[in-house]
Amino acid sequence: MIETITRRSLIAGLGATGALAPAILRAQTLFTAYPFRLGIAAGDPAADGFVIWTRLAPEPLEPHGGMPLEPVEVEWQVASDAAMRTVVQKGVALARPELAHSVHVEVTGLQPGRPYWYRFTAGRERSPAGRARTTPAIGAALDKVRFGVAGCQSYEDGLFTAYRHLAAEQDLDFVFHYGDYFYEGRSSPMPVGYDGKPRPFVRAHIGGEIYSLDDYRRRYAQYKADPDLQLAHASTAWFTTYDDHEVDNNWVQEIDQDGTPPEIFALRRAAAFQAYYEHMPLRKRSFPNAGGITINRRAQFGNLLDAHFLDTRQFRSDQPCGDGFKTYCPGIDDPKAAVLGTAQEDWLYRNLKESKARWNVLAQQVMVMNLDRRTGDEPEPIRNIDSWAGYAAPRERLLQHLRGMGNAVVLTGDEHQNFAGELRTKGGMGDVVAVEFVSTSITSGGSGQDKRFGTEKIIAASQELKQTNDQRGYLLCEVSPNLWQSSWRVVDKVHEPGGVISTRATFSVEHGKPAIQI
Ligand code: FE
Ligand code: CA
Repeated sequence: MIETITRRSLIAGLGATGALAPAILRAQTLFTAYPFRLGIAAGDPAADGFVIWTRLAPEPLEPHGGMPLEPVEVEWQVASDAAMRTVVQKGVALARPELAHSVHVEVTGLQPGRPYWYRFTAGRERSPAGRARTTPAIGAALDKVRFGVAGCQSYEDGLFTAYRHLAAEQDLDFVFHYGDYFYEGRSSPMPVGYDGKPRPFVRAHIGGEIYSLDDYRRRYAQYKADPDLQLAHASTAWFTTYDDHEVDNNWVQEIDQDGTPPEIFALRRAAAFQAYYEHMPLRKRSFPNAGGITINRRAQFGNLLDAHFLDTRQFRSDQPCGDGFKTYCPGIDDPKAAVLGTAQEDWLYRNLKESKARWNVLAQQVMVMNLDRRTGDEPEPIRNIDSWAGYAAPRERLLQHLRGMGNAVVLTGDEHQNFAGELRTKGGMGDVVAVEFVSTSITSGGSGQDKRFGTEKIIAASQELKQTNDQRGYLLCEVSPNLWQSSWRVVDKVHEPGGVISTRATFSVEHGKPAIQI
């Protein structure tokens, strides 16, 4: 209360001097604590620039992050050197209370294919510097692109040690985040592993399940206060997409898992989308409106790689068979079923057709491989209905468009383990048309082990799946004109500090030959 009075008197004082517009605070003495406690980030790199992001939050878990309900000026700088001596772009942005005092600056006018460094200043407080690379000029001859793939970072399941290691990877062009940036549930302090046995409880969610805009903001604040996550953001630009848990478990369109009336769930979804935009380094094109958001987008890396980032939630038809891991039901073969929806499918197929790049990557959320998930003696095949396996018609349409390309790689998350496999038409029984790498989780599922119980059985039952691993970490991809390589980077533990990183396996794909070489 005392702070509020102080701020009000300050505003009144400044207004009286006429020194600045009365509604905009210059943040000289406003902060009760360091305001950059949620870190900084860069995103959506292009050949001429990228987005830089921060959110002023001196008290991250308090309402409005401990900020006064006024716009506050934030200075930003982009430099061509790590010491920030040669500033090449700078400006002032407004951190507005409507957007949780987040700042999204679309920096332009930069040179293609080189690293830059950026930082923010508010009042007397200065953020650390982050690094981001612009993409190479479109069509430029390029011999290498190197990037990481990460997601599924349940705070309660483990420490973000893998992010500390990801931040230390050299010369990453970008990170693709496939979603589950947080989990929406209340704290569940008695976790059970995939084997049904109790596993260590690491740290607790604050509050119950999240519903309101303030709830979502506070959950982002709790996660983003993590120093390892902040390091990974500061190390390179990210392309972020959401999966289900940024809103609610297994949602699609305006349908949640609990049968909530769609117009009511739509309000929750709109709050989640707003908070998502506020906390991610997204361009203005992703600004949420009319309850929706645009996150499918394309990025091009010289003549080497076209990346297509997909949204497999917002336009998907309801999961058939009652969702979950289920045996066959006729809904799987519904010819009207959708995963991407018509507009996004048309956009993707047009991009693929027009692509002149050596490689195409489909960066998305849920598994395309159609696996029989039986791990015991169940009589009928079991599918993961909340994946492309529950949507036979759109899956077949996608694979028919990849057929003959010989340069398509699909990157996926959601499964909380590493899978490497080949995508076959006709529900997994036809020709191989592309390769899929499913990246494991940063923490979700806990420390894990090399193989999850029963996965040998899944491999044996599938022509598509080649190898699995059940440790935590991220995927590292190195793309050159004739060879694609993906490595499983795994940490030996996430339930306590000190997890050691190693490469569990590296897979190669030759250009023109959609097959995995182990
Ligand atoms: Fe997840
Ligand atoms: Ca559903």
